[in-house]
Amino acid sequence: RLDSAVYQSRSSAKLVGRVPVAIGRRRLRIVVTGGAGFVGSHLVDKIIDRGDEVIVIDNFFTGRKDNLVHQFSNPRFELIRHDVVEPILLEVDQIYHLACPASPVHYKYNPVKTIKTNVMGTLNMLGLAKRVGAKFLLTSTSEVYGDPLEHPQKETYWGNVNPIGERSCYDEGKRTAETLAMDYHRGAGVEVRIARIFNTYGPRMCLDDGRVVSNFVAQAIRKLPLTVYGDGKQTRSFQYVSDLVEGLVALMEGEHVGPFNLGNPGEFTMLELAEVVKETIDSSAAIEFRPNTADDPHKRKPDISKAKELLNWEPKVSLREGLPVMVSDFRNRILNEDEGKGL
Ligand code: NAD
Ligand code: UDP
Ligand code: UDP
Repeated sequence: RLDSAVYQSRSSAKLVGRVPVAIGRRRLRIVVTGGAGFVGSHLVDKIIDRGDEVIVIDNFFTGRKDNLVHQFSNPRFELIRHDVVEPILLEVDQIYHLACPASPVHYKYNPVKTIKTNVMGTLNMLGLAKRVGAKFLLTSTSEVYGDPLEHPQKETYWGNVNPIGERSCYDEGKRTAETLAMDYHRGAGVEVRIARIFNTYGPRMCLDDGRVVSNFVAQAIRKLPLTVYGDGKQTRSFQYVSDLVEGLVALMEGEHVGPFNLGNPGEFTMLELAEVVKETIDSSAAIEFRPNTADDPHKRKPDISKAKELLNWEPKVSLREGLPVMVSDFRNRILNEDEGKGL
């Protein structure tokens, strides 16, 4: 079905012209929807580095060409401007389905579009997987647990979600996407994988996407007060992006459908996070309290025993190690932005 370039063995592993470094197996053609976004672009780099081919599908709602520009001259890379809400015909081996805005500010901007992306977009990608016999991985979210009554959250927990709230377009959308994936698995034999991703941070996040880590880091660099919503005692667990990418690949390549929690169990209140950001960037940064958003989950921390046992995966990068890498990326981009404005 696919052209089957066979890799060189690792022993002769060196990138020479178009010959990929690899592992003595057929080269795979892999779709990454949402590949121009934060997580997707790091995943694309990982897949290209190991020698496979990538087709990115992205409508650039929150993604940027800048995240992928370093791949443009690579013959194993293709970028298609396309909205996953519309059907598409491709011949591929694997589909990593990430397309969906992830920041609350972005997903609430056009909630009906967010639902369409989660439901129709996921349906189309599952239809594609069924037609060509591709493996399909859904990037679901810890938000399926809603404002959790169980702590830490295990995959067996069914969640506490408001079906009519401002976050429902996203959390109910992702819950439906999980349902669709399982129905295609049971009904049509599609090989599916489900990841429930907990808050992730790192280089290439949108500077102003409204998520807490990107907000605090950009604010501290710009010498603005850090905006803490509510009393700042709500908790989140922050995972560095390279750990997530390792987990997604382990899940796709493994034998298990999931769902699997992929997150770092290190739990912080927003006030503690603000302190770590201050330590890393500017100890004199001020904190400003703002009203919290509706239905904000009070606490969130993954139980990752299932992924540890069945995927042999666990995160390696702590917040204090990962944050400085993100800070240097943000510093460069904020500097370039300021220069662009003639500051
Ligand atoms: P992101 O906003 O940076 O990336 C999403 C990408 O999808 C963007 O490139 C955007 O342009 C694209 N996109 C959105 N709607 C689309 C559509 N209809 N058609 C085609 N492309 C579309 O977000 P991210 O942080 O990289 O998140 C990636 C995935 O991981 C999302 O599915 C998100 O729900 C999930 N996730 C992320 C986190 C996190 O903390 N980053 C946590 C839980 C789940
Ligand atoms: N689909 C797609 N690409 C394909 C195959 C299907 O985009 O290669 C879309 C198709 O248009 C449909 C959805 O995926 O909207 C579900 O497809 P499926 O074949 O499962 O359902 P059906 O078309 O029979 O309703
Ligand atoms: N938050 C905050 N200040 C900000 C942005 C967010 O205190 O500038 C809080 C928000 O109220 C929530 C937590 O940080 O309790 C995480 O929010 P984020 O939007 O990053 O992700 P969520 O986990 O809510 O999807």
